[in-house]
Amino acid sequence: MPLGPKGAQLALIAWVLTPISGAQAETSPVPQAVEQAAYTYITRATLEAPIRFLSSDLLEGRGPGTRGDELARVYLQTQLEGSGYQPAFPNGSWQQPFDLIGIKSMIPPTWSFQAKGAQIELKLRADYSAAGGLQTGGASINNAELVFIGYGIQAPEYRWDDFKGVNVTGKVLVIMNNNPDWDPKLFAGKRRLYYGRWAYKYESAARAGAVGAIIIHTTASAGYPWQVVQDTSEYFELPAGNEPRLRLRAWMTAEAVRRVLKAGGYDLDKLIAAARSRDFKPVPLGIRTSIEVTNTLSTVRTANVGGILPGSDPQLAKELVVLSAHHDHLGIGAPDASGDRIYHGAVDNALGCSQVLAAARALSGLPVRTRRTLLVLFVAAEEQQYLGSKYYAQHPSVPVGRIAADVNLEGAFDRDIFGRTHDATLIGMGKSSLDEIAESVARSQGRTLRPDQFPDRGYFYRSDQFSFARVGVPTLNFGEGTEVIGRPADWGRQQVEAWERHKYHQPADKLDDSWNFDGVIEDAQLAMLSTWLIAQAEAMPTWKPGDEFEAARKQASAEMGQ
Ligand SMILES: [Zn+2]
Repeated sequence: MPLGPKGAQLALIAWVLTPISGAQAETSPVPQAVEQAAYTYITRATLEAPIRFLSSDLLEGRGPGTRGDELARVYLQTQLEGSGYQPAFPNGSWQQPFDLIGIKSMIPPTWSFQAKGAQIELKLRADYSAAGGLQTGGASINNAELVFIGYGIQAPEYRWDDFKGVNVTGKVLVIMNNNPDWDPKLFAGKRRLYYGRWAYKYESAARAGAVGAIIIHTTASAGYPWQVVQDTSEYFELPAGNEPRLRLRAWMTAEAVRRVLKAGGYDLDKLIAAARSRDFKPVPLGIRTSIEVTNTLSTVRTANVGGILPGSDPQLAKELVVLSAHHDHLGIGAPDASGDRIYHGAVDNALGCSQVLAAARALSGLPVRTRRTLLVLFVAAEEQQYLGSKYYAQHPSVPVGRIAADVNLEGAFDRDIFGRTHDATLIGMGKSSLDEIAESVARSQGRTLRPDQFPDRGYFYRSDQFSFARVGVPTLNFGEGTEVIGRPADWGRQQVEAWERHKYHQPADKLDDSWNFDGVIEDAQLAMLSTWLIAQAEAMPTWKPGDEFEAARKQASAEMGQ
């Protein structure tokens, strides 16, 4: 049965009048009491009210460390308390505080390279962009040699190793973006993996002992234009631990790389061709460079907010199912054309917070608690490269081997404010056994789940669920459906694209009368019922064999002695 009297009616009408592509409503995979809770507690009112508060001018865009951020956290924790949850963190705390380190680098306006007696000089922004990689006042690189390292990937599960044991200590690595994407037998076809993200490239270079790394930028391999890379304003990180770090993280246009390599007698196209093979070996280029950066550091304190609902099964209750959404947004910034300077973040992510709150209330309203313990987690600083979830994954409230799954709601991906849809997107579909759970719920709503429509953009790695996946926890993360019921075929996609152009990360991301809550309700129900099914299942969810995160899960389980 579809959920809710109104939902049921609409689905029935739609089913009778129009052949729904691929799916038709079928029996619910959950007991009636659970379905009842889903439509008692997940309503337009329970969803709209938190969005109205969190996105209001008074919260000033919820920038990390601001008063608006603190207000949002207190609001969320009191809502959890009122819904019957208990503090998730030690000493009865609802909050898990942590510092963000802001790094602003001064990069020299020119950068020179020496090769065979020749000198090549590049210009900042036109040719390269860079940032310091150390959380110190600065760092320098002195006469270091450049080494072309291909994709810079070490992936045992794909039998791929670009380093081949070559010592690159003290070198500056020149690295191609993306991962091999032309043959599904090599990696995952068109789908960009973490191996294909810039963050991986820098980590990989640092692990190998390099002092710096230059990523070769092309719009095709990055998935975004050079203008995005040119922005070298302040960025944030968690306080450095003992992980290896680069002194310099640079991007360079392919054209600039070509000039530098040519001076050393190398042809970029030939090097790239060689790197498209498992047999590739690193190429020391005989080109040397020096550069000095100075950093200005700052510290901001924020916190994750979490509440738990203890599980009812004596054995399974020590395992957690996480239901998460980020509570931060961009704060106050540059004004838009109307003069508004507050980045309200109504869709991104007051929407996800309200859906998690409503789902949390529905789960605490059940006559029998779920077998596994639930953790409702509102993470901070997602807009700074998902630092709150990263901090939680590094400092989890139970060992990560006991976290069954993370169900994450991110309004920026699931812009479900245009009405009920025939479909929904599962970002990262095909990676874990959670697909079947989400599909069973979606089917009962009369909807079809489909994979990420832009797999090359790597959305899976660009939000909080990735922090969980990285430590081996399978994740569910929904994106919008675009086949809006009762609208022409292309209408939903057009709405989503218009929202991206005119509202995404702009002050105009506000709650207004145009919002249709029918899809918001149905997606919150989808998340709540999936969470319930994960929390009830006898077995923990698993990654599909060979998935990039399977090894991390095995390690986490081994540490549990399982
Ligand atoms: Zn977001």
